[in-house]
Amino acid sequence: MATNTSWNAQLFSRYHRLHAQYHSYPAPEHAQYPISAFERYSALRSSRALQRPLALNINIPFCANACYNCTHKTTITKDRSRSTAYLQSLEHEIRMLAPHIRTATPITQLHIGGGTPTFLNSLELRQLMRCLQQHFNIVSHNFCNYSIDIDPRETDWATMGVLRDIGFNGIHIMVQALDAQVQRAINCLHTVEHTQKIVEAARTLQFRQVSISLTYGLPKQTPQAWNTTLSETLLLAPDRIRLQAFMHQPEQYPIQQRIVATDIPSTPDLALMLSDSLEQLANAGYRYIGMDYFALADDEYSTAQEDGALYCGPLGYSTCASSDTLGFGAGAISQLGELYYCTSTDHTAYQSACNTHQLPAAYGVRHNAEHNLRKDILDGLNTQFSLDFKTIEQRYHIDFQAYFSKEWPQLQRMHNDGLLQLSEDSLHMTPQGRLFTLAVCQIFDQYLAQPTLKPGVRTQVI
Ligand code: SF4
Repeated sequence: MATNTSWNAQLFSRYHRLHAQYHSYPAPEHAQYPISAFERYSALRSSRALQRPLALNINIPFCANACYNCTHKTTITKDRSRSTAYLQSLEHEIRMLAPHIRTATPITQLHIGGGTPTFLNSLELRQLMRCLQQHFNIVSHNFCNYSIDIDPRETDWATMGVLRDIGFNGIHIMVQALDAQVQRAINCLHTVEHTQKIVEAARTLQFRQVSISLTYGLPKQTPQAWNTTLSETLLLAPDRIRLQAFMHQPEQYPIQQRIVATDIPSTPDLALMLSDSLEQLANAGYRYIGMDYFALADDEYSTAQEDGALYCGPLGYSTCASSDTLGFGAGAISQLGELYYCTSTDHTAYQSACNTHQLPAAYGVRHNAEHNLRKDILDGLNTQFSLDFKTIEQRYHIDFQAYFSKEWPQLQRMHNDGLLQLSEDSLHMTPQGRLFTLAVCQIFDQYLAQPTLKPGVRTQVI
């Protein structure tokens, strides 16, 4: 089966990066400028005036079980009653923000993530959806993308029935790994048979899209164990597969201190896992979309990419151009025009703000021309694996090569290494280089190039 990417061991050793992908720019750790309630209300008014399409993003930052590899800001608790108070705060926040949006604006995309969204019980999930329906134009047809993250340990047929009944048509199952030894090492035990039942339920209930997320590079994971996990996943034939690299950062994520560093696979083993993945995925008919996403040829992402209609946003890939995203919940990300922010991940502070009818604290960045230029470049790389310098020059009134004169020698080195084809007019990732697009993106990240750069800095594009 033909594939749009192929394996090159030399490029892996030089350009494989263990770093978060650029769903947005700057990366969240560099978007930490306090964003006032006034700025948020103004951005909402402008979104309303320009009648931009709207996506909703809701965060449920609670989990009943701790995974030792977790990189999310979530609270681990067995006390399920905490969802009641959290849901009340969410409803307060929705009521504060919703009046600033045109009620006629259809919600093109809705995503509930976490944490574990099904930490809310079925009644609470219904209550949340009712609240959204009261305040937004949640469409009843099946063409918009309404998806939810699923922890297989927390979901069964009955849950799937409720999710479909209240309007979800996409699920993202966080499988991570199927090998028992690896599951024990990260404290995430479940069976492939159970995931199979969830997928069967999704197909029977006519969910439009089933996506499975796997993680490679986990402790105790051998290339053989990884091969089995991927083969068993492919038998379930999800529409999309996300392959995330495990990043061991115990200083940043204390729960990861429970992972023994020597259990983490070596770099040659990681290379083997990735090359094996490419072969298996191509043979099963999956295309590499970009970042860490693969999709079947008839999936919406694949067809949108062919048509040049694939976009990047805070929720990952999207097929809706110029859409704004409004987030609700502690740690939820929003993108309203040029304002990009995340509400405080401290859910106690989040709840006390909402309960006293104030917007919770938020941190982010207001995009300036420099950010827009770099975001456009990253989006071109991540959606089309290419850049047309003339288009960028006309849009931003720059001479590309002169403007990026410091970055140019690095691009030339990548050209010489076979990662990309560089000319005066354009840049194209080669089939061998596409898997390492992140390394090219990092060249254009001014925050990595100048670590002292402060969020919110205004750099003039000439
Ligand atoms: S990996 Fe997901 S399910 Fe596991 S603790 Fe983190 S957020 Fe919760």
